[in-house]
Amino acid sequence: MAVTRAITLKTEIPGPRGRAILERKERVVAGPLVPQLPVVAAETSGSTITDVDGNTFIDFTGGVGVLNAGHSHPQIVQAVQEQAARFMHTDFTVIPYEVYVELAERLLAVSPFRGPAKAAFFNAGTEAVENAVKFARSYTRRTAVVCFEGGFHGRTLLSLTMTSKVHPYKAGLGPFAPEVYRLPYPDSYRGPGTREALDALERSLTTVVPPEEIACVVIEPQLGEGGFMPASQDYMDGLRSFCDRHGIVLVADEVQTGFGRTGRMWAVEHYGIEPDLMTVAKSIAGGLPLSGVLGKAEIMDAPAEGGVGGTYVGNPVALAAALAVLDVFEEEGLVERAAELGDTLRARMLGWQGRFAAIGDVRGLGAMLAIELVRDRDTKEPAPELASAVIDQALARGLLLLKAGVHGNCIRVLCPLTISEADLAEALDAWEQALEAAFAA
Ligand code: PLP
Repeated sequence: MAVTRAITLKTEIPGPRGRAILERKERVVAGPLVPQLPVVAAETSGSTITDVDGNTFIDFTGGVGVLNAGHSHPQIVQAVQEQAARFMHTDFTVIPYEVYVELAERLLAVSPFRGPAKAAFFNAGTEAVENAVKFARSYTRRTAVVCFEGGFHGRTLLSLTMTSKVHPYKAGLGPFAPEVYRLPYPDSYRGPGTREALDALERSLTTVVPPEEIACVVIEPQLGEGGFMPASQDYMDGLRSFCDRHGIVLVADEVQTGFGRTGRMWAVEHYGIEPDLMTVAKSIAGGLPLSGVLGKAEIMDAPAEGGVGGTYVGNPVALAAALAVLDVFEEEGLVERAAELGDTLRARMLGWQGRFAAIGDVRGLGAMLAIELVRDRDTKEPAPELASAVIDQALARGLLLLKAGVHGNCIRVLCPLTISEADLAEALDAWEQALEAAFAA
């Protein structure tokens, strides 16, 4: 039986049509919006993207973690079309609608909160983070926010202040918001270790900010943009008890770790931790802009009436997409699939690490995995140029890969969790050949 391959390359990349569009872009699109991959999308389906020149690629970038349920899933497309035909906007805080309430009910039913919990919806991840801080500040009547080195929380003023990668996100874009304090994240590869990071947390109460002024600690259970580094169990336990002792709201930023990526619905489930608030976005709505804060009801009820909102928050079309995403997750068992994918990916990556000295580390939870490239395994000097070379070689073979990490030297997996075994095998073969070609150069 002939094997159908997903990848089809018909032209150089970009081809003539793609090149022409990219040239037009140079003239009219603002300079900072530089695409990481020179692929101009025409159509998407499942785990593939077809460009305007008819080349089809397997997509391991997943729109940066947005497409856990796959590109253009027919059930999600249908839900969007049906809701768009019914109504597209009223502003929930002017004229409410059921789909908002229904998504809140369904998400809370699969959330890690053990007691009464509530939800609020927004558009982007950055809004969820900023609003989580609002809820925490209103509840505690305190102002300070503690966040972490290597963290990424968005690009609006408060969330950008909390974001920790300087270039290109922050340099030249200050001044930043006050009352944001940054502590070391436990890093199993480069340090600090768990003990050291916990000591820094305790020490900060003397040297950085008094506990009675801290409204919340915001942590990604596994760093996303910062390099796919999961926190250790002991650190998460220590942080939970630190917040309990000092009446601080613990916010888990699950914008990238959420929706099954780590092999559990939420990354906090790996740690058995109940956060006080949780931010969600990205894969929540299959590609439409939607985010949310979920949390303990007493905290979610703390701001005054009208203290949280926005014209577009909780758009009904995006909410309908999110309900369809939850259906797809249940019907296709995507959380379990993420765990399986993770096993396959990790085994393959560890094999590569055994062959290629430049792969210093393989890490992550479930299918949220990355390799970290170094010039030397002993010094661990980051090799961002090698990561770029591997990504270029993969592109030439029809696989779309994405960097991560404060040093830009990690390559991460954010493929749709709906990917078939055949597409997965094809993608991993292309990746392996890309490693061989990049390291041979
Ligand atoms: N929080 C985390 C953990 C993220 O990874 C991101 C985006 O990558 C954000 C927040 C910001 O989300 P958005 O880009 O939708 O504003």
